[in-house]
Amino acid sequence: MATPVSNGHTTLIKTKPRCENRRVLVTGGAGFVGSHLCDFLVSRGDYVICLDNFFTGSKENVAHLLDKPNFELVRHDVVEPISLEVDMIFHLACPASPVHYKWDPIKTAKTSFLGTLNMLELAQRCKARFLISSTSEVYGDPLQHPQTEAYWGNVNCIGERSCYDEGKRIAETLTMDHWREYGTEVRIIRIFNTYGPRMALDDGRVVSNFVSQALTGKPMTVYGEGTQTRSFQYISDLIAGMVTVMEGPMIGPFNVGNPGEFTMIELAELVKEVVNPKATIVFQENTSDDPGKRKPDITKIKSALGWEPKVVLRDGLALMVEDFKKRLGV
Ligand code: NAD
Ligand code: UDP
Repeated sequence: MATPVSNGHTTLIKTKPRCENRRVLVTGGAGFVGSHLCDFLVSRGDYVICLDNFFTGSKENVAHLLDKPNFELVRHDVVEPISLEVDMIFHLACPASPVHYKWDPIKTAKTSFLGTLNMLELAQRCKARFLISSTSEVYGDPLQHPQTEAYWGNVNCIGERSCYDEGKRIAETLTMDHWREYGTEVRIIRIFNTYGPRMALDDGRVVSNFVSQALTGKPMTVYGEGTQTRSFQYISDLIAGMVTVMEGPMIGPFNVGNPGEFTMIELAELVKEVVNPKATIVFQENTSDDPGKRKPDITKIKSALGWEPKVVLRDGLALMVEDFKKRLGV
């Protein structure tokens, strides 16, 4: 049983000792982030159960793991309960690209609410530690910049993005209530825009769009005036941050992101420089409720757990080009 201790603004939890060959459940494990997490966990010897309904993920993302003795792939939808015996749960199952989560918004909300509740109940029964992959979207269109974890956000609860933003907010609420009510060992991370190899080609997020467009000779589609900002984190930094929080002594929430902030025009110019000097830009209408700016304050995770990102955007973009070229056949 977890022993909560409060030190003012952050809650501390007495941790269980690390055991060998622990059974780790990764929900959404066949997706972009989940597949990289499975790689890491399998390579260090954990027994990994990768659970996915393949809505946005694919078997190809984990095909190289299928013959490993410590890896198992299960097709399941987290909206339905599942009975498993595990020691740790990384709960990632949820579409993350606006294009995908708006496609069936009620399903997105059900995945966030019922999916998270089901996985918390599983964690409670197994006495497993549970980590929820929340998002910078809980800050909405932020009035505080950069965003600290203490900021409560500025979210439209009736907009087209609400299924995801409010979904993740209730997922965080359920996570904290499970800890308060039942002592379930929980961790919360708020992930900022992350990019890298294996992002779905039809993902619709800005980095994968620009890289695919630049590689296939199509103009890069900048939405709106392109002055909105995001802070882009390379996938290996996220995996390191995620595992650090899971194994650390504090619940969080922790921002996990790279504070390097770019406008969409600056991003397009960098893609042009790194990926294809002949790439061009076309301006298109922006989507509704698009946050104007986004940048993590990572003081909390840096001072508490010693994590900080290492890969700058220019280097990270170069690292995803080969994978995209191969999958695009160019
Ligand atoms: P992704 O779409 O590539 O992966 C999500 C995975 O979850 C997919 O494999 C999908 O098939 C699966 N899934 C979706 N609904 C499911 C359901 N009901 N049951 C079972 N599986 C389901 O997205 P990603 O970028 O890998 O994101 C992973 C997690 O990280 C998500 O929870 C997302 O909210 C969070 N996150 C990601 C980012 C980012 O920039 N990549 C930013 C903030 C938060
Ligand atoms: N965007 C863009 N062109 C694209 C896709 C997205 O200019 O082809 C912009 C989008 O309007 C937003 C930013 O890029 O301001 C990040 O969008 P993304 O969908 O990657 O993630 P978000 O942070 O909005 O969830």
